[in-house]
Amino acid sequence: MSWDFETDPEFQEKLDWADEFVREEVEPLDLVWPGLEFTPLDEARRAVVEPLKAEVRRQKLWATHLGPDLGGEGYGQLKLSLLNEILGRSSWAPIVFGCQAPDTGNAEIIAHYGTPEQKERYLRPLLEGEIFSCYSMTEPHAGSDPTMFTTRAVRDGDEWVIQGWKFFSSNAKTSTFLIVMAVTNPDVSPYKGMSMFLVPSDTPGIEIVRNVGLAGEPEDEGSHALIHYDDVRVPADALLGGEGQAFAIAQTRLGGGRIHHAMRTIGLARSAFDQMCERALSRETQGSLLADKQFVQGYIADSYAQLTQFRLFVLYTAWSIDRHNDYRKVRKDIAAVKVLMPGVLHDIAWRAIQVHGALGVSNEMPFHRMLLGASVMGLADGPTEVHKVTVARQVLRDHSASDDLWPTRHLPKLREAARAKYAERLEHEVGNL
Ligand SMILES: Cc1cc2nc3c(=O)[nH]c(=O)nc-3n(C[C@H](O)[C@H](O)[C@H](O)COP(=O)(O)OP(=O)(O)OC[C@H]3O[C@@H](n4cnc5c(N)ncnc54)[C@H](O)[C@@H]3O)c2cc1C
Repeated sequence: MSWDFETDPEFQEKLDWADEFVREEVEPLDLVWPGLEFTPLDEARRAVVEPLKAEVRRQKLWATHLGPDLGGEGYGQLKLSLLNEILGRSSWAPIVFGCQAPDTGNAEIIAHYGTPEQKERYLRPLLEGEIFSCYSMTEPHAGSDPTMFTTRAVRDGDEWVIQGWKFFSSNAKTSTFLIVMAVTNPDVSPYKGMSMFLVPSDTPGIEIVRNVGLAGEPEDEGSHALIHYDDVRVPADALLGGEGQAFAIAQTRLGGGRIHHAMRTIGLARSAFDQMCERALSRETQGSLLADKQFVQGYIADSYAQLTQFRLFVLYTAWSIDRHNDYRKVRKDIAAVKVLMPGVLHDIAWRAIQVHGALGVSNEMPFHRMLLGASVMGLADGPTEVHKVTVARQVLRDHSASDDLWPTRHLPKLREAARAKYAERLEHEVGNL
């Protein structure tokens, strides 16, 4: 029997170390270099960030989810989950610990599907944290439904020529290479007619038309590129995996990305929760602490229950991924966690705002970004509605229809069957009356 909710003491020590390290050394980076703009290769940032990364490596916490063959520690997803709960508090922490999106997902698919040459060229420096990558899949006219994508890659001798538009390609402007999904065979089902390409970001024909920002960010300083691929030529060996394999690859890529976001969301939501509790215990109004008001107690109780439920579900899902070693086998739970994630973050951040009053909505507290983050979580890597459909379909596979007009648990039917089963005993009772 092993059904345990405790962390190994040795790993707990590492988590304790990470907790303090992130608080003392990494969270301050969010204040001096805020936002999701990652360019640690510039001299000033490199000078600060590289020694922190070295310390993380010394502690054996660098890219923990990857196997030693890929420069990680091979701790798997469950341990990554416990670590990510800490890293989720800070935008910079995943970079310092070698597990930031979108690079983790991109690294995983190159590790799975890349050739030795592709691994040497892209994966090694990516895992070393020397370069950044971009995943370029969504198109301006179609996001949730990849079967509508129209970006084409046509074979021309030893080359592929890519033509089309992509939207919201995060970090394209700081990336060294892009992973581009394109139609390679329009005559078959889109599930078999699309392929992935590894495309260096400086390839002629790649035009970043604008860098779209999230709400509140300055215009054209955002991180999510609208890209025109205009006759972009790449060699035949730029193909990642086999021709027509894009959907299978995307499933691997997005499965990891989604659960990693969920792990970090626990950290962010817990930070809002802790701040709410502190404020409730610090602020007095109408003769008592906020902590003594029933409405506020309700906020705290609901938030605690919501966060704990979500955390246990994420940990269980991470454990299942380690067990099956295949994201696809855990698709239902990854999708369910993805569905819950925006609601948990939204609700807890909203209550934290409310308990802080005017200060809560001000730009002197971090909550408004969490609310926006909750909306982002409901869209990035696929909208909530689509994931609900996935959950429902997967759930229904484990159920079957009634073969009768009446439901299986229809009480009159069950009662009749039960009476028939005990008919003799019932007759005896009646006879004795
Ligand atoms: C911060 C952020 C970063 C992102 N980074 C990347 C990236 O790096 N690379 C990349 O390729 N993409 C990226 N995306 C894009 C993301 O994957 C898409 O936004 C997402 O797939 C939804 O596509 P869409 O925005 O075109 O919405 P649409 O497809 O237009 O959908 C709009 C809405 O329609 C509804 N809807 C859609 N389908 C269904 C359905 N089947 N049933 C019911 N309702 C439905 C939902 O309410 C949905 O939100 C990012 C998005 C965000 C917000």
